[in-house]
Amino acid sequence: MENLFISSKHTIIMNKPVSHQRVALQRINELLVQASDAFSEHPDISRRYVLIARKMAMKYKVRFTKDQKRLFCKKCNAYLQQGNNCSVRLEHGRIVITCKECGSIRRIIYKK
Ligand SMILES: [Zn+2]
Repeated sequence: MENLFISSKHTIIMNKPVSHQRVALQRINELLVQASDAFSEHPDISRRYVLIARKMAMKYKVRFTKDQKRLFCKKCNAYLQQGNNCSVRLEHGRIVITCKECGSIRRIIYKK
């Protein structure tokens, strides 16, 4: 027990090298493109691509861009395509994106 405590004290959280992060960003872009390509025929596969991209972003500590964040549902990982499985509306200076797969709502402020 004592040993465990000491060893846990000395664990160092390593930051991922920048070169790895760059490759991860590239791969995430590719995955999101693949997700949009696969969406019309295989929605399940596109969901899988989104999941992999999100896991990768977490692992390498990289962030999605503002536009990329709108491409998928944070709750159910579905790829969102306007007119198919999500609705986009404007109300009170906010963009309201509703996922029709799970019903979750995302609000983005666009007016200041
Ligand atoms: Zn959803």
